[in-house]
Amino acid sequence: FVFFSSDIEISRAQSPKAVDVLAKEIGLLTDEIEIYGQTKAKVRLSLLERLKDQPDGKYVLVAGITPTPLGEGKSTVTIGLVQALTAHLDINSFACLRQPSQGPTFGVKGGAAGGGYAQVIPMEEFNLHLTGDIHAITAANNLLAAAIDARILHENTQSDKALYNRLVPVVNGVRGFSAIQLARLRRLGINKSDPGTLTEEEVSKFARLDIDPSTITWQRVVDTNDRFLRKITVGQANTEKGFIRQAQFDIAVASEIMAILALTTSLQDMKERLGKMVVANDKKGEPVTAEDLGVTGALAVLMKDAIKPTLMQTLEGTPVFVHAGPFANIAHGNSSVLADKIALKLVGETGFVVTEAGFGADIGMEKFFNIKCRASGLVPSVVVLVATVRALKMHGGGPNVTAGAPLKKEYTEENLQLVADGCCNLQKQIQIAQLFGVPVVVALNVFKTDSVAEVDLVCKIAKQSGAFDAVPCNHWSAGGRGAVKLAQAVEKAARQKNSFKYLYSLELPIVEKIRIIAQKVYGAEDIELSLAAQTQIDRYTRQGFGNLPICMAKTHLSLSHQPERKGVPTGFILPISDVRASIGAGFIYPLVGTVSAVKNQFHVCCLSSFELQPVNNCSDMI
Ligand code: ADP
Repeated sequence: FVFFSSDIEISRAQSPKAVDVLAKEIGLLTDEIEIYGQTKAKVRLSLLERLKDQPDGKYVLVAGITPTPLGEGKSTVTIGLVQALTAHLDINSFACLRQPSQGPTFGVKGGAAGGGYAQVIPMEEFNLHLTGDIHAITAANNLLAAAIDARILHENTQSDKALYNRLVPVVNGVRGFSAIQLARLRRLGINKSDPGTLTEEEVSKFARLDIDPSTITWQRVVDTNDRFLRKITVGQANTEKGFIRQAQFDIAVASEIMAILALTTSLQDMKERLGKMVVANDKKGEPVTAEDLGVTGALAVLMKDAIKPTLMQTLEGTPVFVHAGPFANIAHGNSSVLADKIALKLVGETGFVVTEAGFGADIGMEKFFNIKCRASGLVPSVVVLVATVRALKMHGGGPNVTAGAPLKKEYTEENLQLVADGCCNLQKQIQIAQLFGVPVVVALNVFKTDSVAEVDLVCKIAKQSGAFDAVPCNHWSAGGRGAVKLAQAVEKAARQKNSFKYLYSLELPIVEKIRIIAQKVYGAEDIELSLAAQTQIDRYTRQGFGNLPICMAKTHLSLSHQPERKGVPTGFILPISDVRASIGAGFIYPLVGTVSAVKNQFHVCCLSSFELQPVNNCSDMI
């Protein structure tokens, strides 16, 4: 290996095997794959039916300590670990990764294919477009956004009868309700199926959603850091007759449709979830859904291929699924349930599926357990907690680490005191994982500037703090060979007794669930709800959404709500400034922080803070 080759050089130096060869190697039948070019294939969900009696493999989650803005190597560890398991220990394994967004890919952070000798290849294919899932999400999301504004315009400019005639289609010369419309009539208490028999009052009730424009929560999306779209005005053409309103674009991967893709368990389930998405309230304060707008079928058909995971490979030819990819700070930040389920069948009872949760364990892992595992019913066997000496030094009081700036000497020279002081964050994240009853293996991702004494110190403290094991990993510089010790430790940990449990019961009131996460996971003394947050909680509870899990929208740069507070912050009250809901995805999401902090956080996914970078690891791709 050439030690200092760039990620793209390493990626290009390896010729991937043809994807149909890979598919055959892992037991897929010819009619279970849809090939996209030479190196990618979508895998059909029919496989789950064929393998339904096959026992699942072991399920491993890769999480991390509170990271620096540079990322501490969770993707890289995930890939290094499967390379070690399959290519070096001859144990079937699969990595299940998230599809990167163009936001970070063309921003400071760059792509998400891993790094060094632990990568998914070809990197260009992985990072850009893949098999079009994000484009499909963008199309579906924006179709729904268009349907909302068009509906408001038509309802306000047409008579009940004209509106009704427009909504109820004529097929072969006969006006008839569609299945969706019949279902809506039933929900409205109108038990009629002949459009000619509705009374005037029923026509009006059916035709009007009466959306309150000030309550619209559904935004348009684009997968580019186009900061000038953060606030826009829609409806300015004369044809829109003055129906002008302020709106915004979000980044595509923050769409609720992405969260649905990640959590769905079948095509039927996806369709139901898409229909349940709440986009606004009507003028009486009742929720208006995608189903009310009559677009569920259109959204589902746009997503029919996106629901299939994409098969790719690591540098060492081991299989990878790439599927879904919401952010872990504002969304739940995990790859798809379907990819994990298919992979668990394919590896067989003695095999391993390694998946990754975004950011620190306090965010991505907590959501993995409380949201994703609830949706899938899957039980994880082991948590791999990724740490770096550099992030621990930052938690121990080292200077700020800034993306794009050279690291200060504290990070490039041995400093055992900073490491020891920063291990409090590692200890706390181990304790968080233990709340869920799953054994923890600490993977210390070794950088060339780490000293042997620093590495030994971290592993010693990790074991003293309750980790089942702690091992240094060199997969970035040595590929799977550098993660063999980690793979052995994970294999051993997976044989331990597992007492997995969720952190809270869904039946608890929304406020109580938020408080449990704040106190037990973040270490807050208590929570403080703004008036807006309390109002929304009351509304969602009244609307029957009180028993959903919680998806906190919190900074990933601190255990607390204040990104500058490193280590293990104490004595803080967690402010909840607002509460929103993703009813189709199936979670309530409280916004954590003061108004400006929340804004900041939302900019992360709303097109601004991933400033376009003229130079990053994607610039060399072409
Ligand atoms: P995360 O998934 O935690 O955000 P990544 O695995 O994407 O982190 O790694 C972030 C970046 O750091 C990548 O560019 C990767 O190549 C680089 N990196 C990871 N581990 C190492 C290492 N041990 N030495 C040098 N660079 C590394």
